[in-house]
Amino acid sequence: MLNIILFGPPGSGKGTQAMKLKEKYNLAHISTGDIFRAVIATPSDLGNELRSYMDQGQLVPDELTFRVLASYIDGHDLLKSGGIIFDGFPRTIPQANALDRFFAERNSNITIVLSLLVQEEEVVQRLLLRGQTSGRIDDNNEVVIRKRMQVYRDQTLPLAAYYSDQHKFIELKGQGTVDEVFELLCREIDHLLPPTV
Ligand code: ADP
Repeated sequence: MLNIILFGPPGSGKGTQAMKLKEKYNLAHISTGDIFRAVIATPSDLGNELRSYMDQGQLVPDELTFRVLASYIDGHDLLKSGGIIFDGFPRTIPQANALDRFFAERNSNITIVLSLLVQEEEVVQRLLLRGQTSGRIDDNNEVVIRKRMQVYRDQTLPLAAYYSDQHKFIELKGQGTVDEVFELLCREIDHLLPPTV
């Protein structure tokens, strides 16, 4: 399996690139944010709980996040696919630990972590722009956006060292056009594939 984590701050282009990579390499795409928003779309206690964190720019607690993710992977039989692109997960060290354990129990692992480097001011502007059309409450308010950046720095950025220690972390310039960034990602992924004869 080719299991790829797309890493980077909110607004760094993970979702856009994940959709393109999914097509090109025939992978499954998991966005925890999208899964949570789909749960919220139908009124429920779980949806209300998720919304209470997301609307404030806070992370959903690890245990709840992991439960939703694991049941999505198993429920959709994704371990039988060619591979998975993770977008927005893991976001904390405990989530990364849980994911490593989950894969180990299923005789699989994370292949690579590709990190999109984009300056904070650029992503804030992108998110504000997205907020004008996306209907996402968390993109509509600069205070919430800044909070998400702070959460990213405090809770998610430590994962760079976690995956560097595993020799799986690669940083790429995330600030060009969508196609330029896609090129860079594909180049890294192509190195991992067996040569075609
Ligand atoms: P963005 O990358 O723009 O922040 P996402 O759709 O990935 O957008 O996430 C939106 C919100 O969903 C996050 O701010 C957080 O509240 C919640 N969320 C998504 N993924 C996770 C995760 N792995 N752990 C905890 N909370 C998450």
